[in-house]
Amino acid sequence: MSLIIQKYGGTSMGSPERIREVAKRIAHYQAQGHQLVVVPSAMSGETNRLLGLAKQLSDDPSGRELDVIASTGEQVSVGLLALALQSLGLKAKSYTGWQVKITTDSAFTKARILSIDDANIRRDLAEGYVAVVAGFQGIDSDGNLTTLGRGGSDTTGVAIAAALKADECQIFTDVDGVYTTDPRVVPEARKLDSITFEEMFELASLGSKVLQIRSVEFAGKYKVKLRVLSSFTPHDSNDTGTLITYEEDNMEQPVIAGIAFNRDEAKLTVTGVPDRPGIAYSILGPVAEANIDVDVIIQNTSSEGITDFSFTVHRNDYARALALLNDTVKPAINARGVTGDNKIAKVSIVGIGMRSHAGVAAKMFECLARENVNIQMISTSEIKTSVVVDEKYMELAVRALHAAFELEKTTV
Ligand code: ADP
Ligand code: ASP
Ligand code: MG
Repeated sequence: MSLIIQKYGGTSMGSPERIREVAKRIAHYQAQGHQLVVVPSAMSGETNRLLGLAKQLSDDPSGRELDVIASTGEQVSVGLLALALQSLGLKAKSYTGWQVKITTDSAFTKARILSIDDANIRRDLAEGYVAVVAGFQGIDSDGNLTTLGRGGSDTTGVAIAAALKADECQIFTDVDGVYTTDPRVVPEARKLDSITFEEMFELASLGSKVLQIRSVEFAGKYKVKLRVLSSFTPHDSNDTGTLITYEEDNMEQPVIAGIAFNRDEAKLTVTGVPDRPGIAYSILGPVAEANIDVDVIIQNTSSEGITDFSFTVHRNDYARALALLNDTVKPAINARGVTGDNKIAKVSIVGIGMRSHAGVAAKMFECLARENVNIQMISTSEIKTSVVVDEKYMELAVRALHAAFELEKTTV
């Protein structure tokens, strides 16, 4: 008998019929003798609907209230799923995050899990119940409801698996695993049987929404056996999805594991900047103080002591960053001007094989040149290369790179 944590995403929970299917799958696993903790997301579209309601009543809604509102989506899901399980004759009990209790910090709308009290769940499991725990939510030390950021039910699932030392955490979604890139953009994308933790971590942080970045972080820290599977296959299917692995095996690895993309960024440029020590700090210091995260940064070599300085921020922070640069930074450093572009996208190739293979980035640039896609910024690290391009060329770039690196082909 093993202890399995199963997380079901919004589409998997999208209707009473879908919820019944989820319940049947859980019943199938229980019949095989497994103990189960199940973490459902809100029904698809529900979190957007709830946040949309909030926006209709406030231009600048408080994070605390947004979390009170958004967390109801998962509360409905746990109740419905528990009912569906009970009508199949299973013993099932629902829990909100605070009932468990899942304690988080107080960063509303993007809280981090600090601890999980597993007493209730362990007792239920010992008594033969399926514990149904709301994803995406927790409670802070002052008793406020919190949520974990979009896609946060993945993190709830993995965190519970870590706390309970579960044998496996299964993320059930609307695709049957992790692909070489989003199959919605590249139909030829190939499902991976396994992917290393490091590669999955990079893909998630660079925009692959199949797993929330923090869930991958948690899995790595506690070495949770994490698998991505489809909830749309038959309940008794032998599909094994994609396993996240923690050791590089000796098998020949492809150089590139996958391609991620992200439309969530915007670019800002301060032009005519005097090229002297401390200038990066004069620009990015106030940006950091305003709590705006910066991603890619470029400073050009100067010509006659004057240079340009560009960086990217999350698109939600674009207007704030632009105003800050114009109102505060530009006069302080006597820059010539400030320009911005919020129609950019970042495309990244990821693979641990890049460590041992030269010329991978050059191949990426060659491919984009062939497609006439202008590269605005470049950023590299040991196992990834990212480029910032005009948003309208993003899909073209992803498709062309997928073909150039022959990711549709199996290597073994
Ligand atoms: P859920 O509601 O189950 O959490 P998400 O929409 O958050 O589902 O994540 C699943 C989606 O992630 C897929 O439908 C797919 O479009 C997208 N996706 C992005 N990159 C990848 C990838 N590399 N492999 C698989 N799916 C991906
Ligand atoms: N319901 C939340 C969201 O839509 C959390 C999740 O689905 O993981 O972001
Ligand atoms: Mg998700």
